[in-house]
Amino acid sequence: MRISPDILAAARNDLSALVAIPSVSARDEGMEACADEVERLLAETGFSTGQHKGDVGPFVVGETGDGPFTLVIYNHYDVQPEDPIALWTDPPFVLTERSGRLYGRGSADDKGEFISRIAGWNLFRQAHPGPLPFKLIWIVEGEEEIGSPSLTRFLDSRFPDTKADLCWWEFGEVDKSGRPIILMGFKGILAVELECRTARADLHSSLGAIFDNPLWRLAAAIASLRDASGRILIDGFYDGVVAPDARSRALAATPPFPLESLQAETGGQRLLDGVDAETFYEHLNFEPCLNVNGFHGGYDGEGAKTVLPCTGMAKLDFRLAPGQHPVHIAALLRRHLDAKGFDDVEMKILDAEVLGVRSDPSHPAVDLGAALLEKWFGRPAVIQPSSAASGLAHPFVHKFGATLFGAGLTHHGAMLHSPDENILISHFENMIGFSAEFFAALCESAVTREAAADA
Ligand SMILES: [Zn+2]
Repeated sequence: MRISPDILAAARNDLSALVAIPSVSARDEGMEACADEVERLLAETGFSTGQHKGDVGPFVVGETGDGPFTLVIYNHYDVQPEDPIALWTDPPFVLTERSGRLYGRGSADDKGEFISRIAGWNLFRQAHPGPLPFKLIWIVEGEEEIGSPSLTRFLDSRFPDTKADLCWWEFGEVDKSGRPIILMGFKGILAVELECRTARADLHSSLGAIFDNPLWRLAAAIASLRDASGRILIDGFYDGVVAPDARSRALAATPPFPLESLQAETGGQRLLDGVDAETFYEHLNFEPCLNVNGFHGGYDGEGAKTVLPCTGMAKLDFRLAPGQHPVHIAALLRRHLDAKGFDDVEMKILDAEVLGVRSDPSHPAVDLGAALLEKWFGRPAVIQPSSAASGLAHPFVHKFGATLFGAGLTHHGAMLHSPDENILISHFENMIGFSAEFFAALCESAVTREAAADA
């Protein structure tokens, strides 16, 4: 399919209009106006649409088509706050072109992703105006940037029995060398705060001869949780972990980029024991990990102050594999601390909402998508079994039973959540073309499947 200048101009106009609405969910600003605009875009291209109340931003749903195959597309129209405004080259809520890029808050995350798909949908419908032989449910959320507080509840009430084949995730990435990535999974997350109090008030440090110190207690408690290879030493921690399937393992066995490039980029130097150039990518994809995010207490000002602090605090996060429920892991952590004699270390759960997921990359839509991405981006697609990071995809994967499919236009220098967020115009165009042909290919495979089922 050819992308005419008209199609591209219309898509840019739609993106401009959407970026101009500062739909900052953290400030509950512009949410209704943006939801209305999203609904209008869906309605005018043939979707039956509706809005549903969320905690902050309404959910917009568009539905069309019918058939044995169901595609769910998930996007979000809310954006991160634009602060710090002084660091933007141009005003954040004005879509601005500079040297082949479009700048603006939400230009990538996630309004650019959404508009490229809508433009692709329009292009596809021009060529295929008849009845759609598969079911398409488009869900556009307004609370993604504040952690999707009502997404699970909304999906349960609006789609109690819906099953889907594929969930086209809200974003996808193009790597530094221009290769499109298909993301098949996310890790889960558990974030906790540990606190230890050993006295009513800070004491003279000479009393360290008889009283224990909360920072020592916390250091010892945390040290008991992990070994130098990153292996987590909590009893039962790995029990539920779902092992990667053969194709995911094969995909992760050949890293798409060398360890050295990641080291050069991040300045990261000290590898965990057992992690090397051959295994690092498998670790990123499959291994749970435990991070100490912060460790606070006592005196950390200039010069010496001898003190025996009365309290200490640490924050930890676990990135979890599919099969590890964060609430269960929190219970195991509590049991571990008690069993090791750290029952005076208090634990507060900060986040236990996001479960890890990993879909089977042998789903036929994945190879279909990979071939079309290669066609439009001119580079072979990289199929990545799982992000090393977390995303709230489990309602789609577990409840709908959908295969996760993350493909999009977010490039290496997109500056997500930062000043000067941007997309490449060439990627925008590629994603419009890809989307149109992906819809067409799903259409054909749905027709083929129906014919096969009838025969
Ligand atoms: Zn974001």
